[in-house]
Amino acid sequence: MSTEIVKDIVCPQCGEPQKYRILAGINAVENPELKEKILDETLFDWRCDRCNYFAAMVYPFLYTDPEKQLVISMCPAGTDSAVEPTEAIRGYTKRSVKNLAELKEKILIFDAGCDDLAVELVKNALCAILQKSYKVSRLHAYFSRILPDTGELEFAIFLPRQPKPVYHSTRMEVYKQSQEVLRTLDAKAPEGFAVVDTRLARKLLTEYQNI
Ligand SMILES: [Zn+2]
Repeated sequence: MSTEIVKDIVCPQCGEPQKYRILAGINAVENPELKEKILDETLFDWRCDRCNYFAAMVYPFLYTDPEKQLVISMCPAGTDSAVEPTEAIRGYTKRSVKNLAELKEKILIFDAGCDDLAVELVKNALCAILQKSYKVSRLHAYFSRILPDTGELEFAIFLPRQPKPVYHSTRMEVYKQSQEVLRTLDAKAPEGFAVVDTRLARKLLTEYQNI
């Protein structure tokens, strides 16, 4: 089941009034084609019928995968998530993300069977190295996949002012060490729709260094 709302919108470029189909959420098992559109980052694209004006729409969205018992609430900055943890998703892994790139990353992590908190620790270590080697103070890294031949974790790295990512991978050992850190700290993702991100990873690593 996908939940759909049709809205009237006006093209910001040519003023043409049109209908826009808002997807409040999708079920990944019932709508694999919509899941694919998340993974190729086109699900929220909108194009004007008249002038071809293009926009990436931003609104709250809920991703549910009953097979993996996973539910992800995408709640862009400035919007409120209407999602309450209901009985139907009791026992599900629940995550909250801010944008499509983060939603895609979470799906890829859980589809690969990884623990997203451990992946955030790996990412933190990788970013520290890459910031030095690229001599940049900021970069964005997103989990991409586990490489089939080496078992390494591959990340898409977005450098400042570069629209296309570069790819870097880390050994599975780094992931296993990260799991060990989490076990030592007895750290788990927070209850409810948890934000598992770089900030949480840094906080845990500081705790670990102070043991
Ligand atoms: Zn238009």
